[in-house]
Amino acid sequence: MQPTVDPINALLVAHGLRRTYASKLVLGWFLAHPDTSYTHSQLLSVLAEDQHEELDKVTLYRLVDRLTQVGLLLCRVDVQRVRRFQAMPASVHAIPHFECQSCHRDSPLSDALQASTHDLERAAQSALEALRALGYQGHSMDFAVRGVCADCVNGASH
Ligand SMILES: [Zn+2]
Repeated sequence: MQPTVDPINALLVAHGLRRTYASKLVLGWFLAHPDTSYTHSQLLSVLAEDQHEELDKVTLYRLVDRLTQVGLLLCRVDVQRVRRFQAMPASVHAIPHFECQSCHRDSPLSDALQASTHDLERAAQSALEALRALGYQGHSMDFAVRGVCADCVNGASH
């Protein structure tokens, strides 16, 4: 059997964060509610409702700031000038892409590779994890494949 990687743990490790009860809880909450943005105090109350216990406010605020710093959360300021936090939309992440050296089109690999892009992401995460174990501070990785696209190989004009 393959060991299953908890994606939340993997994300925390890949971004140089400690896997604490609070960090797993908070990141897990944001990832489970990707379309909703929360203020600090809203987050505190929804988590309290969900967990039936209140997280320490200072711990939570620091954690949210840290998750934002490493790019796991997106911070926006609303019309009342209150900061709202949301899971970083997938479109903002670096997407594995293919750069054609012939026509210079840049296309995402998700369509061509489908489920394999998930494996690429995992591989990137475990590489970051390995670097981190060696004392490196890796926060993100860009994945580009360079070559000649199928259209150019087949001589199609575009
Ligand atoms: Zn091409």
